Amino acid sequence: MSSLVFEIDDIPLEGLEFSKVQPRSHFNLNQPDCALCDDVHVEGNLKKVQKDVYLSGRIVSALDLICSRCLGSIRFPLHCKVSARFTPRTESQKGKAEVELQASDIDAESYSGNSGNQVDLTQAVHDHIVLNLPTICLCDENCRGLCQRCGADLNLENCDCDKDLAVDPRLEVLMELKDKLK
Ligand SMILES: [Zn+2]
Ligand SMILES: [Zn+2]
Repeated sequence: MSSLVFEIDDIPLEGLEFSKVQPRSHFNLNQPDCALCDDVHVEGNLKKVQKDVYLSGRIVSALDLICSRCLGSIRFPLHCKVSARFTPRTESQKGKAEVELQASDIDAESYSGNSGNQVDLTQAVHDHIVLNLPTICLCDENCRGLCQRCGADLNLENCDCDKDLAVDPRLEVLMELKDKLK
């Protein structure tokens, strides 16, 4: 059983502090441009409020991402907060839960288990990792990226594409014409 599954009956009234480590393979985050490259540490506390369980904690891990400009790989250290509310899944919610997943659901996940008496933090942790990924990530804020024309990595070499244009502006006119004719 995943160490991110908790028995609700084991959560005392004053709340439960926990610190867990899950192998990265437990999470479905393994794409060429975005992959977990370290264990996932989750620590925080669980509190029961009537029938709901509230999670408040932190996630620490690392990911391999791709530089938005030069496509080089980047090791991205992840430190983020995670919070979620788990509400008992009622019969009427069961059917539509899979159909309509809205942004607000991330903050109010339904919990279910064999006995309906467990919370599994896996999905909440996964969602918060994804939410905290940078939309643009750069290997270096001064990354020069790839040349749009020849694809050279401008961090490593200087290509002659810009020079050609500077030498002969008529060529640029021809290139624009060519683009229009496409
Ligand atoms: Zn880069
Ligand atoms: Zn070039």
